[in-house]
Amino acid sequence: MDVHIFGGTHGNESNGVWLANHYQKFPHLGARQGLNVFSHLANPLAIEKRQRYCDIDLNRSFNNGDLKADCYEAQCAKNILAHFSKEDLFAIDLHTSTAQMGITLIIAHTDPFVARLAFLAQKKIKRIRILFNDQFDTAANLLICAAPRGLIIEVGGVGQNILNANIIKDLNLTLSTLLDCLEELAATKNWQSNFSLSGFKELYPVAYPKDSAGKQNALIHPRILGRDYLELKPKEPIFIDENFKDIEAERDQVYFPVFINEAAYYEKDIAMVLTGKIEKSYF
Ligand SMILES: [Zn+2]
Repeated sequence: MDVHIFGGTHGNESNGVWLANHYQKFPHLGARQGLNVFSHLANPLAIEKRQRYCDIDLNRSFNNGDLKADCYEAQCAKNILAHFSKEDLFAIDLHTSTAQMGITLIIAHTDPFVARLAFLAQKKIKRIRILFNDQFDTAANLLICAAPRGLIIEVGGVGQNILNANIIKDLNLTLSTLLDCLEELAATKNWQSNFSLSGFKELYPVAYPKDSAGKQNALIHPRILGRDYLELKPKEPIFIDENFKDIEAERDQVYFPVFINEAAYYEKDIAMVLTGKIEKSYF
């Protein structure tokens, strides 16, 4: 099986860039029985400029329309797709968040092989959380969706363009564990396909409140800052107004917010993403 590791899909997520470079510098780190491991920098110019992207978000650029665009990221996407010709192939995309996401594996494929891999990794690293991204977003545009199989490692919180040894250690631990598990799966033709995987399902993004001129006029409530994945009760306020007063809330159910105050999501007008707990069974 070919395994392609990508760092710097977002050019300002420098810890993933560090680790992708590290795997290029020390290729023996990827050595596993039955695996051919390659490490790439996905968006070299954005990395050089220390920006998320140059023209368009590379990690939302893998549908046909975007690939036809005449821009730098369309070229990057084509370069990446050139690696994805085989069927027996797995892509691992390294990301970081400014939110307190801990170690998260983001799954966008419905393929039980991907879920099984996450399941095995979670058995080895208990604090891994699973986030299913198959609903509200542009899931099909993600880099990993262009590969037959793949997942995202998302670790946080860390600021953009800040190298942090703890974040790199968590990325590295998760990556090497996934490679161990892939080695295990590659060696087992009939891996157990009867299991269930618990995680969080992305339901919908929450926009920032605005004034009549469309300007943001509220802040994320201090009480939920840094509380990614923790329970949010239906009446619990998630914003305070300009005078630091709670903005009353009334939601239909308990949610678990993630990507709270994510720096990269200001341009997308996403204050946080509400998720629900889910257990998916695979047969
Ligand atoms: Zn990212």
